[in-house]
Amino acid sequence: MVGDVKMKKVILIKYGELTTKRGNRNFFVKKLTENLQHKLKNYEVKIVQDISRMYIEFLEKDLEKIEEIVQNTFGIYKYHNAYMVNTNRETIENELLNIAYEKNFHTFKIEVKRSDKSFPMKSLEYARVLGSIILKNIKDIKVDVHNPDIVFTVEIKPYQSYIYTNSIKASGGYPVGTQAKGMLMLSGGIDSPVAGYLAMKRGIKVDAVYFEALPHTSIEARNKVIDLTKKLVNYTDCIHLHIVPFTQIQEEIYKNCNPDYCITIMRRMMYRIMTLLAEKNKALVIINGESIGQVASQTLVSMNVINSVTNMPVIRPVACLDKLEIMDIAKKIDTYDISILPYEDCCTVFVPKHPVIHPRMDTCLKTEEMISYDSLINKCLDETFTIKITDNEEEEFKNLL
Ligand code: ATP
Ligand code: MG
Repeated sequence: MVGDVKMKKVILIKYGELTTKRGNRNFFVKKLTENLQHKLKNYEVKIVQDISRMYIEFLEKDLEKIEEIVQNTFGIYKYHNAYMVNTNRETIENELLNIAYEKNFHTFKIEVKRSDKSFPMKSLEYARVLGSIILKNIKDIKVDVHNPDIVFTVEIKPYQSYIYTNSIKASGGYPVGTQAKGMLMLSGGIDSPVAGYLAMKRGIKVDAVYFEALPHTSIEARNKVIDLTKKLVNYTDCIHLHIVPFTQIQEEIYKNCNPDYCITIMRRMMYRIMTLLAEKNKALVIINGESIGQVASQTLVSMNVINSVTNMPVIRPVACLDKLEIMDIAKKIDTYDISILPYEDCCTVFVPKHPVIHPRMDTCLKTEEMISYDSLINKCLDETFTIKITDNEEEEFKNLL
């Protein structure tokens, strides 16, 4: 497919921050390549790597889709839409001029990087030649080496050279799978999908867990969580979504607890179940969408009392963000419109009038003595089922756990 042609568009990815990971660099680059290969599996592409960068060759009709995938792949900080040309002066100069004609700029700079030492001109000398060709052919522009509107970079290598302009920002982060697994508490709200996205950005592979309280909550609420998971799959290869039937525990809590403490106790139960599910699924952390001060269960006192039931680290990626900042990310990753659909989840169907803001540990412990929660939790785990959500198919494994 991608043979010797006069000019071909390619995507050029420089590893950037990944290259600061000295000892681990090969591991990070390998993961990034695997992740890209997986996402690009339905396209005719060729990925070429060298020590500090990667080139993706593709069919021009797929450019938009390929760029979207590059934008959504963590571990890529920026990329260039580059043009690959045969290494000879005439081709390079013609193509550079064609590219420049299409751009809108007043000031420019040319950078030449010559690694093919058989090329007849030195870098600086050739940059001047190319600059003068542009100046001669395009009106009302000038060179500015300090603060140009556009930089044309010409990399001269044996056989093929690359011409490209300013970089395009991508998602950054580390490739998903460079960290161990985390269990994401995924409700139908705005915050938890954003938390999942940010966790994956640090390279964490996530499984999602949804607590449902049928028939108090609806199948639509579950479908909403499935749809949110599908959005998150844009950033990874697949997500296992564990659905925990939580009705009986919730009903026991509401039968036995002071209403003000129901949410606190309910969340302590969720954390207990999360810990066991994490152990079962070889995950090392719990991730959720708690944001400090947002609701009664997210004051520092509440978090402390709730968190005390587990020794597992709990990561709260949106803990210090404002709601508006979280909403901006939700819009960017396209989960916002799903999150605002009005189906209630198990936290909203039983909301007490005055949930306690500063819960006491001894009150929680005393209340919990009235519920034989160990057996209820075990039953919950037995009845939990898992849906594997991949980029293009949905499989359901009953009692996989
Ligand atoms: P969100 O917008 O993500 O629903 P929230 O502001 O509504 O969050 P809470 O309902 O207090 O806050 O929940 C805090 C976090 O607990 C959620 O972000 C989510 O990670 C987790 N959580 C809440 N309800 C559920 C649920 N039914 N299933 C799984 N996780 C849940
Ligand atoms: Mg919620």
